[in-house]
Amino acid sequence: MDIEITVKITAPDGTAHTEQIGTITKASDTIGEIGLSISESKELLLHLQQEIVSAQCVAYCATRTCCPNCGRKLRCKGRSDIRYRTVFGDVTVASPRFYRCQCHDGPAQTFSPLTELLPDHVAPELLWLETKWASLVSFGITADILKDVLPIDVRLSSDTIRRHHGRAATRMEAELAEERFSFIETSACQREQMPNPEGPITVGIDGGYVRSRDVGQSHFEVTVGKSILTDRPSRYLGLVQSHDDKPKRRLHEVLQDQGWQENQPVTFMTDGGDTVINIAQDMAPASEHILDWFHVTMRITVMQQYVKGLAHHNEDDAENLARQLRKIKGFLWNGNLHDGQWAIEDLVVDLDEVETDYASIKALRKTAAEFETYIANNKDMIPNYAERRRYGERVSTGFVESTVNTVVGKRFGKKQQMRWSKQGAHLMLQTRTRTLDGTLRAKFEQWYLGMKSHEETQMVA
Ligand SMILES: [Zn+2]
Repeated sequence: MDIEITVKITAPDGTAHTEQIGTITKASDTIGEIGLSISESKELLLHLQQEIVSAQCVAYCATRTCCPNCGRKLRCKGRSDIRYRTVFGDVTVASPRFYRCQCHDGPAQTFSPLTELLPDHVAPELLWLETKWASLVSFGITADILKDVLPIDVRLSSDTIRRHHGRAATRMEAELAEERFSFIETSACQREQMPNPEGPITVGIDGGYVRSRDVGQSHFEVTVGKSILTDRPSRYLGLVQSHDDKPKRRLHEVLQDQGWQENQPVTFMTDGGDTVINIAQDMAPASEHILDWFHVTMRITVMQQYVKGLAHHNEDDAENLARQLRKIKGFLWNGNLHDGQWAIEDLVVDLDEVETDYASIKALRKTAAEFETYIANNKDMIPNYAERRRYGERVSTGFVESTVNTVVGKRFGKKQQMRWSKQGAHLMLQTRTRTLDGTLRAKFEQWYLGMKSHEETQMVA
């Protein structure tokens, strides 16, 4: 059968024109022939886009052919073709150039209306799509995905996507206001006058490492955070501490976006490191800092794994150690540091006395000794987790995966040999955090007038 597709466009002045954009010939004998194929849809979309964009550009230019001052018709200097890159392919439009009217002094002798309409020749939605996917997978895979399903120029390279991604991330960075030492703006008295806040905010801040591409440095630290409010979507933030000069502003903006007010309590949950605690300092008047239970339990789990390995060599010792680990976990869960720290010390001593041919005994001893130091260093940040849980308060920002694994994870090639510059990683964190918490699209809609959100788009059937 033949399927003919025509499009009818009615211009603002009422003139209509019909254009045939393609005929598809299809059989209906086998499953592979049923429905539009990807390549047919690419052809159709490209032609449709060409018609729509051309008509819109003609309509726009029509509004600019007369002098805005005296209304006289402007003289055309000539036309050139411009290439406009869209999600549905590269389209070519004729761009007229006009002489400015003599009745007033303009900034230049001639102008092109389409240069004003389409300054960088790339559609905002294409920039958004590229930025979103490049935040999730590599630049190369992003190019492959887009070319697979959309009529996008086969010449689209990973370098173009890298450049577009960098442009979007840099624009976000440029919008961030200045850094401050403290973001607390109200007095205790003013805070008492404020309406009751919505509920507590929990902010998890965590550190991780990314492989460095700089000579003489193998890794550098990245800091990521997750802000959780009961009735609103969570927000992420990310930064490279040694590159970023606005870490506190960044956190402040996330809290502001979530509607935080200064009388609202904030619980900061961290891994205990100084750099992450510094970011949260002087951020909220009503705040507490606690050790994320996730980090405590992760370290115990690592020791439990070693003990399981030991059981193949020394069954009795392993059983005894496993019991001690359960006790330690119980003490810490109940905020009982006194007994907890004694039990950890006992564990370290007992491990020294174990005689075994288990290869990982050294690693287990080291992990236990580090755990002892870790708990001692952070003892002021260990609450009674059990009690918090009973009162319905958070004990962790994530049980399944730490925030750093979610945000840094695969995109930064933790498992592969991917290497990053500090600036590159920092910019990637900006778009990746927005992609993960679902706020990237809104950022683009704010930048580009008329770019509709998915919900607003309506088609009359
Ligand atoms: Zn004029």
